[in-house]
Amino acid sequence: MDCKECKNKLIFYFENSLEKEEMGKVKNHIALCDECQSALNQLVKSFEIIEIEKQMRANPFLATRVIQNIQNRSNNTVIGLIRKLQPALFSLLLVVTLTLGILLGNLYQINNSDVYVSDQFEELYISDLNQENIELTFLTETSNE
Ligand SMILES: [Zn+2]
Repeated sequence: MDCKECKNKLIFYFENSLEKEEMGKVKNHIALCDECQSALNQLVKSFEIIEIEKQMRANPFLATRVIQNIQNRSNNTVIGLIRKLQPALFSLLLVVTLTLGILLGNLYQINNSDVYVSDQFEELYISDLNQENIELTFLTETSNE
């Protein structure tokens, strides 16, 4: 068996799928030939890497680990603290909002009375009735003359 024939059959030798006679021939050649021996070693290493990558892809704990890492990080940071205090912060915000609402409501009432007063003044000075009265007085004064 020459090296070319041996290398063509190495994969089948590795998979143990050759006939018994062929298996023996390849085995004998490899025992004598350093080049084919190293080719077989490379083949074995390649398949080992493929097996490792298959295991990594099929790792069922990867998602769990990632989620746990995220949880640990968020527990250690300010965001984690905020999440823990979220109910308290929400209550505080509610109280502040209610207080502001009450204060604004009171302010609006005060402003409203101011507006009412100014409306009264406007009515006093710009009312059509009053103008008519003034006109009437002028008219009556001129007609009297
Ligand atoms: Zn060889």
